[in-house]
Amino acid sequence: MEKILIVDDSFVQAARLKDILEDDYDITIAQTAEEGLHQASAENYSLILLDVVMPGMDGFTLLKKLQEEIITQSIPVILITSLSDVQNEHQGLVLGAVDYITKPFSPLIVKARVNTHIKLYRYRKQVEHQSNTDQLTGIANRRQYDNYSSMRWNEAVRLKAPFSICMIDIDRFKAYNDTFGHPAGDKVLADVAETLASSLQRSTDFVARYGGEEFAVCLLGDSSEKAYEYMKKVRQSVEELCIPHNPEVADWVTVSIGGVTVLPKEDSSYDFYLKIADTMLYDAKKHGRNRVVWADEHLKQLWEK
Ligand code: GH3
Ligand code: MG
Ligand code: MG
Repeated sequence: MEKILIVDDSFVQAARLKDILEDDYDITIAQTAEEGLHQASAENYSLILLDVVMPGMDGFTLLKKLQEEIITQSIPVILITSLSDVQNEHQGLVLGAVDYITKPFSPLIVKARVNTHIKLYRYRKQVEHQSNTDQLTGIANRRQYDNYSSMRWNEAVRLKAPFSICMIDIDRFKAYNDTFGHPAGDKVLADVAETLASSLQRSTDFVARYGGEEFAVCLLGDSSEKAYEYMKKVRQSVEELCIPHNPEVADWVTVSIGGVTVLPKEDSSYDFYLKIADTMLYDAKKHGRNRVVWADEHLKQLWEK
């Protein structure tokens, strides 16, 4: 059941709205804007019904605050007010409300408008999910990686926390396709992606398909030594899938991993460190594949085997 938040200082009015909508939706009531703001970021709401006139923080101010927060800015807001003048309606819509309902309202109209906005929100989420997901493997795609990694990079700068960038590439994959065919290769890509995703499950881990048979990972908060050890286990978990390769090429399907850990500063360049991770990957390939090569904070290399 989709969740709707009603923010209204009048309990009678909030209860009336709840009554109209509770058969179809999971309703929460907040009686102040402050409580509404807290609720909106604590739970996943698909719609907010917001009263404009409230003591303390009013609806317009709360609407502005919701729009400024990353986690709440995409939740549609319908303003509810007895102010039927055009100026307020205009102000609400300019501030980003999706619709406007004036009191006294008809239950049928409230229901119809809420249903429409819930449907639109669902559709938008679905499109958003599709445009951020790699179709073949089901994990994040390059586009999501670029957005996410730059957000996390800025967070690392702010928190003065170590940030690791890591590139993973399937070894001798062209030969695999040539031997077993492209559909079998696709299956390997999906299996490797699943293994990476299930090995990288901490809330600060992020993995995406970067393109072709290449994956990218970013980690937040680990020292270079820790990130390196962690990615060695990830490499091993792919090897332990024991997917047979063409015996003339290799026993199993494996991956090579290159990475770097950095304590990013305001003026550090993400692209510079991405290139370092790529160089480490190149070194892992050059020295026999199925291994991790890492650069620490001083760009000193850590080698596997
Ligand atoms: P290396 O160990 O040096 O990485 O060798 P490689 O053969 O893996 O590297 P190369 O870059 O020569 O070949 C990459 C191969 O990955 C070629 C391409 O057909 C295959 N590939 C890329 N994307 C896909 C895909 O979506 N599905 C399948 N089946 N194969 C793909
Ligand atoms: Mg490859
Ligand atoms: Mg490649």
